[in-house]
Amino acid sequence: MFVSTLVPALVSRWACSRRLEEARLSVPALETVVSFTIVAPEGSADSILRAMSGLVARLDSVLDYRGQGGLGELNRTGRGVPDGDLRLLLHRAFVLRDETGGAFEPCILPLVVLWGFHDEPRVPSPAEIDSALALCGPSCCRMSGDTIVLAPGSGVDLGAVAAGFIADRAFELAMESGAVAALVDAGGEIRCGGDRDWRIAIRHPREDGFWDVITVSDCAVSTSGDYEAFLLSDGARFCHILDPNTGLPESGVASVTVVARTCTVADGLSTALAVGGPDLVEAVPDSLWTGVLFVLETDSGLVERRFGVL
Ligand code: AMP
Ligand code: MG
Repeated sequence: MFVSTLVPALVSRWACSRRLEEARLSVPALETVVSFTIVAPEGSADSILRAMSGLVARLDSVLDYRGQGGLGELNRTGRGVPDGDLRLLLHRAFVLRDETGGAFEPCILPLVVLWGFHDEPRVPSPAEIDSALALCGPSCCRMSGDTIVLAPGSGVDLGAVAAGFIADRAFELAMESGAVAALVDAGGEIRCGGDRDWRIAIRHPREDGFWDVITVSDCAVSTSGDYEAFLLSDGARFCHILDPNTGLPESGVASVTVVARTCTVADGLSTALAVGGPDLVEAVPDSLWTGVLFVLETDSGLVERRFGVL
């Protein structure tokens, strides 16, 4: 009893007397920019930011589906025993696949490559889509003990969760290293927390500027949208988020923003909800999210739908 009342008093007096500094750093990663904002005891911010940027560079290489790191290696060899962060994220991705009824599909690389959104986008033929579909999904990627085995020609793309995972890991590192508040923005996937609130702007999916600005604390915010990478063909928009059932790009969801406890989940879920639309919100475990904002493309223009607190 004595200790539990004394220790908080000592801690809060120390917290009041120390001087804090706010510092920022942006680094290129994940084919985008990852930005850190931290508030830390004076003199410590630079080394915390350096450690965060080192971690992001390492994870960027590990999670690149065609790079020299673990995921690239798994895709090249077709089997492997992933460890560390790759193992952690693969497990989370497989659970998320189940939780979203397959709208989020980690084994989707043949379709992603076919549509070419990482290189030269093009509209493939129905026959090409059928062939790629046959190489995607749970039957093409199984776990046998700790070993992951891919069907020949199949592949794993963690692009829908990698930025969120990196934001989580960098945020956790900052807080473990003594920051009192931090925000990591990994190309729009945001993890933030600490002793303050943060204002997060949600991009307008069709115009420059914002659809809304929300104030949050200790959480993650991720937005997926059909404006991030797309191709226009005969007046139709084909975007980079693919429906693993049909092999076709999602349509109807201009953007969907998810607020969740971690950015890995927010990121994966926003991709899944872009595919599944508002109906899928009711079907996924509600422990996964605290708020969801859809901006839907309808015949009468953009319409928003909100779930939970946002
Ligand atoms: P995001 O921007 O987080 O919504 O992720 C989109 C990226 O995830 C795409 O560029 C693809 O690499 C990949 N992807 C596309 N559709 C899916 C899907 N249904 N499930 C998982 N990953 C996907
Ligand atoms: Mg995502």
